[in-house]
Order: sequence, then structure tokens, then C-alpha cells
Amino acid sequence: MDCIFCQIVAGKIPSQVLYQDEEVLAFRDINPAAPTHVLVIPKKHIDSLADVADEETPLIGRMVKIANRIAREEKVAESGYRLIISSGKDGGQVVPHLHMHLLGGRNLSSKLC
Ligand code: AMP
Ligand code: ZN
Repeated sequence: MDCIFCQIVAGKIPSQVLYQDEEVLAFRDINPAAPTHVLVIPKKHIDSLADVADEETPLIGRMVKIANRIAREEKVAESGYRLIISSGKDGGQVVPHLHMHLLGGRNLSSKLC
């Protein structure tokens, strides 16, 4: 298993876990781009958003629900936050295991990139 996020799921690489259930894990990004920077991932390995099967799309909704809950816990829900899923090379995805970034705690640019 050489996927870094699968190793985090397996507990082989330490992480600061904020939430987990049977399907989803949320942990702090090791190189935060904002005061709150959390990654929400499926425990099951899926390469990218482009590889989510039709029957797996409810998982994305669960990830959003969990990210929204963490945003409230991190006290950024009122000030605002951003959820990002990068997919593939041109999408800027570096780690090839589907993940959603939750960014908040500072004023993020209105420019998307
Ligand atoms: P992306 O560029 O969308 O693929 O995002 C990958 C994210 O994973 C980056 O923000 C990295 O800082 C983060 N990351 C990489 N390795 C780790 C790790 N071991 N623990 C927590 N976050 C990580
Ligand atoms: Zn993986």
C-alpha cells in the first residue's frame, strides 16, 4: 500500500484526526494554507473525483455534511469557509486519493485560482 492517505486511514502514518466513521476520515492538513485546513477523505481508496462511480456519489454528500459540521466546531461557519476537491493533473491534485479541503479562518481570495 503506497498511498499516503490509505496509510493514514490504516494508522501507519500519524495524523490529527478530527472525525471518523466507517466511511470517512477527517484530519488536519500537514501544511495548512489557512488557520483551519482540514482534509475530509473516504476511507476507501478512490483515485479522484473523476473516479467516483455513480453509486458512490452519496459519499460526496456525506463528506460535505461532515465538513460543514467540522466548520461549525472550528468556529469558521459564520465567518465563512471554502470546500475544494481538486481532480487530476490540471485540477492541481497532488495526492491521488480523493480528498476535500476545508479552508477557513482567514479571508480567502474571491479569485478561484
Ligand atoms: P492536493 O494538492 O489537493 O492533492 O492536496 C494534498 C494535501 O495533502 C496537501 O494540502 C498536503 O499538505 C496534504 N498532505 C500531504 N501529506 C499529508 C500528511 N501526511 N498529513 C496531512 N496532510 C498531508
Ligand atoms: Zn489511498
